[in-house]
Amino acid sequence: MQLPRYHRLRRSFYRLEGTRCATCERSFFPPRNLCPDCRSTELETHRFSGSGTLYSYSHMSHAPRGFASIAPYTVGMVRLAEGPLIMAQLTDVEGVELHIDMAVEMVTRKLQESSEHGYIVYGYKFRPLLLPLAASLPSTPDAAAAP
Ligand SMILES: [Zn+2]
Repeated sequence: MQLPRYHRLRRSFYRLEGTRCATCERSFFPPRNLCPDCRSTELETHRFSGSGTLYSYSHMSHAPRGFASIAPYTVGMVRLAEGPLIMAQLTDVEGVELHIDMAVEMVTRKLQESSEHGYIVYGYKFRPLLLPLAASLPSTPDAAAAP
């Protein structure tokens, strides 16, 4: 990614920040200034929850320029809980059997290191949603008796 573009989109990449239409409530990522549905220009900053589901994924063994140092890696299309479909690297997937519609969550990680400019690009990735600890424990008689 080019440095000026990264600086312009930094907030979006760090915080998964997009926009939301004040008129029809549709949300967008990356941010837009005009709603394509209702033509409204009243869009406000919207920070996405980071929750989503895996729409599709692919293992990349031959990385494009700038990503060679991290290959092989897995990239996915994620359907955010608020609606938008975005592409992102998947992380923490070793030993995990990925499947369509599995729950994923956003995490901030290093995306890319540029030897050309010496800067490091951080941004969002998605990882399989880990079950809460309580859900993975065997139920006790007390828990089973609770209403
Ligand atoms: Zn709208």
